[in-house]
Amino acid sequence: MKLYIKTFGCQMNMYDSARIRDTLAILGYTETDSPEEADIILLNTCHIREKASEKLFSEIGRLVKFKKEHTLMIVAGCVVQADGEELLKRAHAVDIAVGPQSYHKLPELITKYNRKKGRIAVTDFPAESKFDYLPPIQAIGASAFLAVQEGCDHFCSYCVVPYTRGCEYSRSATEIMDEARQLVKTGAKEIMLLGQNVNGWHGEGARDLGDIIRMIADIDGLERIRYTTSYPSEMTENIITAHRDVPKLMPYIHLPIQSGSNAVLKAMNRQYDRDGYLRISERFRAVRPDIAISSDFIVGFPGETDKDFEDTLDLVQRVGYASSFSFKFSARPGTPASIMKNQIREEVKTERLIRLQDLLLSQQKQFNVNTVGKELDILLIENGKEKGQISGYTPYLQNTHIAADESLLGQIVRVKIESATATSLGGRLVKA
Ligand code: SF4
Repeated sequence: MKLYIKTFGCQMNMYDSARIRDTLAILGYTETDSPEEADIILLNTCHIREKASEKLFSEIGRLVKFKKEHTLMIVAGCVVQADGEELLKRAHAVDIAVGPQSYHKLPELITKYNRKKGRIAVTDFPAESKFDYLPPIQAIGASAFLAVQEGCDHFCSYCVVPYTRGCEYSRSATEIMDEARQLVKTGAKEIMLLGQNVNGWHGEGARDLGDIIRMIADIDGLERIRYTTSYPSEMTENIITAHRDVPKLMPYIHLPIQSGSNAVLKAMNRQYDRDGYLRISERFRAVRPDIAISSDFIVGFPGETDKDFEDTLDLVQRVGYASSFSFKFSARPGTPASIMKNQIREEVKTERLIRLQDLLLSQQKQFNVNTVGKELDILLIENGKEKGQISGYTPYLQNTHIAADESLLGQIVRVKIESATATSLGGRLVKA
């Protein structure tokens, strides 16, 4: 039996899709790239960006032609959590809709499913942890995700995550260690620790994420550790100094600021100010001078003045980013920011985004250019776009292409960096 999964959104959704695939493997489903031959078509959805539901309905419309009589169409993820019943009402092709905290129930839901008795939407936040019911994780490549924390208690005024993923939940250190060992045993060389608020981890068996990183670093065969996404005011000294003490922890930190204006940060309900953020980024640079700092930005938040926006540009100049993600504010239904009175005109948002991205891209290019001539270790993870080319990532998470045999995929090799653009590096294999 075949399973076709399409995943939208963040790394947490990619992790969830991998866990769903492992869960359904128990029922005998193997993954296929072709919806045409699928017995289950599953869409794992994201609700962060604008028009998420509309994009989902159009994807359902595209895939419905592949649905045969026996095929199940399942929608999972955050759109279900936000609009599950509505989804079933509007999309008649969908058989089962399941929220992000309930996908461990899929084997039971699928086995007992009978369309005549009614289609199913599961959107509760179950008392039990889904992680207790999932089968052992399997790495599907050299780089693997491991969810250590989920949900968020911060309630930023523009964000749907606290409503779709629920309140913060941290897995225990023992659970995390077991899963990390299992990932390494099944081929992972790099583990990305995931959480909506990963550095707010507060589970049993360790003081904080810094301890978790130090514990995982002792696993033989594991070569690289990363973590994302961090919340600035929850950054601990123990996490920061791990970047100095733990060679396996990569010199890269994704630290979303969103805005460089204190007034906008307050309206966003972000619980830090620009000076606090600058102090944290300086601490990272003090313990690890070469660290690559990355961030997220929202421009055109309700009430953002020209001066607020200039403050953001100023902060970007001060920090100097190696990479970034930036967006125009888009109102997410049900969030406080969506009903704020002082919304910014679209053309103003566009103009600000262009200016911000110009600056960020020039910093990113400069960061990449600075690595030309250096020898860096690259974890090779996929075939490149051109024949005979493979690609992977530097410790600073720069996408790097080299000419080499694909038998090297999954290995860490030494590469001399010979060229750089804003988005990638080119290099020559020095040592396999
Ligand atoms: S901290 Fe992140 S996940 Fe939590 S509410 Fe704010 S933006 Fe959303």
